[in-house]
Amino acid sequence: MRRRPGHQERPGASRCGGLDTALWDVVGQAVGLPVSQLLGKQHRTTVRPYCTAMYRKDWPDLAAGLCEEALSWKQQGFRTVKMKIGYTPETDIRLVRAVREAIGPDMGLAVDANCAYSVGDAIALGRRLEEFNLLWWEEPIMASDLSGYARLHGQLRIPLAGGETLLADALIRDYIQPRLVDILQPEVELIGLTGARRITPLCWLNHLQLVPHNWGTAVRTAAILQWMATVPPLTPALEACPATFEFDQTESPFRDAVVETGFRLGPDGSITIPRTPGLGVRVVPEALEQFRAELIEIR
Ligand SMILES: [Mg+2]
Repeated sequence: MRRRPGHQERPGASRCGGLDTALWDVVGQAVGLPVSQLLGKQHRTTVRPYCTAMYRKDWPDLAAGLCEEALSWKQQGFRTVKMKIGYTPETDIRLVRAVREAIGPDMGLAVDANCAYSVGDAIALGRRLEEFNLLWWEEPIMASDLSGYARLHGQLRIPLAGGETLLADALIRDYIQPRLVDILQPEVELIGLTGARRITPLCWLNHLQLVPHNWGTAVRTAAILQWMATVPPLTPALEACPATFEFDQTESPFRDAVVETGFRLGPDGSITIPRTPGLGVRVVPEALEQFRAELIEIR
């Protein structure tokens, strides 16, 4: 986990987001209610996720390969796709231009640089990326470079996104209250659903869109879906800032294997939020055992 040097969390701040989320599941199952109903007011029953894929591959022509991949996600029903950048500024421009031309103007496109650039390079590159009508630029610079984000925010016309590596206190203090980014991408494994419940109204009050980070198994997707049910619309517009979250589509042997039923897009590109008790997924212990590398006993 990347953290700001010298950063101090609130005493007692939890990093056990997974355990916290599991306890919400236990309570939901005990009282026979979906976790979303325990978290707060219900704002939606479905969510349209965006596709995360489009990583570097060992293709002879990377641009052509990415274009083909992007079109396949479009065919599978995704309305938005996110691609990796952060190669070099020239390569990034070439790849984003190729993908935008391939998918056309009506599909959402976002980019993620995974903190690849310095502020100066990010400003120069960002101005060149503006023509591609990007939904957001994720982690253009180090997550800890708060003044750098403030500089970028003032100089670029692309919405900025970030926050996937931070705990709830840091998100609130450094990102939400100063409105450092346009889109906050908290990781439920780090903040837990208790942290999610804390930051959701704060994001709404500070006019930040919540687009949760998501990686790993369908259990995490289930937790995010319960959370998304309770995220209030950012504006009263019908289509502006639609609720969405990351739906990792990279190859993964265990994403769906550890649950009885994984999540698939419906015909309209959305996923229905489970209404069964708890998180709404059933873990398959035998499948989990196949992928277990370490046993942690809680007594
Ligand atoms: Mg990212």
